Amino acid sequence: MTTQLLGTFCTVNLYEDGSDRLYQLVFERLDQIDSEFNLNNPDSELNKINNAAGVSEVQVGDDLALVLETALYYAQKSDGAFDPTIGPLVRLWGINTPDAKVPSQDEIENALSLVDWKKVQLKKSNAKTTVFLEQPGMILDLGGIAKGFAADELCSILKEKKVRRALIDLGGNILVWGSKKDGTPWKVGIKNPCDQTLEPPVVLKVQGGMSVVTSGLYERYFEQDGNIYHHILNPKTGYPVQNGILSSTVVSPSSMTADALSTTSFLLGPEEFAKKFDEAVVFIKSDMTVQASPTLEYDLN
Ligand code: ADP
Ligand code: MG
Repeated sequence: MTTQLLGTFCTVNLYEDGSDRLYQLVFERLDQIDSEFNLNNPDSELNKINNAAGVSEVQVGDDLALVLETALYYAQKSDGAFDPTIGPLVRLWGINTPDAKVPSQDEIENALSLVDWKKVQLKKSNAKTTVFLEQPGMILDLGGIAKGFAADELCSILKEKKVRRALIDLGGNILVWGSKKDGTPWKVGIKNPCDQTLEPPVVLKVQGGMSVVTSGLYERYFEQDGNIYHHILNPKTGYPVQNGILSSTVVSPSSMTADALSTTSFLLGPEEFAKKFDEAVVFIKSDMTVQASPTLEYDLN
């Protein structure tokens, strides 16, 4: 079954256990997560925090508390390459909107002054969790991690309901569950970043319970004066990161980790990423060479 949520196409295949009731349960949970994290929904929990930036703290539910806490953890661990306060820059560039354009340097500097994960106050007590953004104009954007969280949440429903095998695909955020009928590993292709209609250049072999998440330059971008401007932004420069990487894919039992780290590895590149993180990763570079962690099993096309 497919639906459009979290700004992308979400597909879940429950194979032989796919009853109407179970699909309904899964898609209701997705709807709920969308209503918490979607920046295009003015009433989302995330927008309530953003609307109160510099003014007041906002009480949040368990989902938002967990995802934000995880996002801040990766912000710290990546020395701010991954930054969930990237919102003002994302909005300024307008990537994936009809208003996408290269901003002026003044606009970039202005937006950059509002991007700083250290200015997010997340306070947890027994009774409640609150979030406060210290500066007016700050905008939390959890687009680099929320789909992974959603995939993990759907997976826990599948576990609880004893689903034997399933494939979750939230806009390229893949989670495979259970084993295939013939017992062979799942095969997950990594798209050709230059032309997604071609054969996948890398096909990963993964066991059930693993997630495979790709961040690609080709996902959301626009062209101006012959240059490509895409949606993964460097929080230090304010520009889309340009480091010769076309896509990076992280494999992990946690889809939330894989999602946050696909964005992070894209930003950091292979050397810096390996210094900071142990997760398995596949990079496709602009000359179409593939660099993959030795622990991974895969075929090349
Ligand atoms: P996609 O959403 O295309 O699957 P990603 O998981 O890589 O791709 O997330 C990219 C999204 O993350 C962007 O659309 C934006 O909302 C957000 N983002 C962009 N730059 C950063 C960054 N430096 N740190 C954290 N999130 C970012
Ligand atoms: Mg990501």
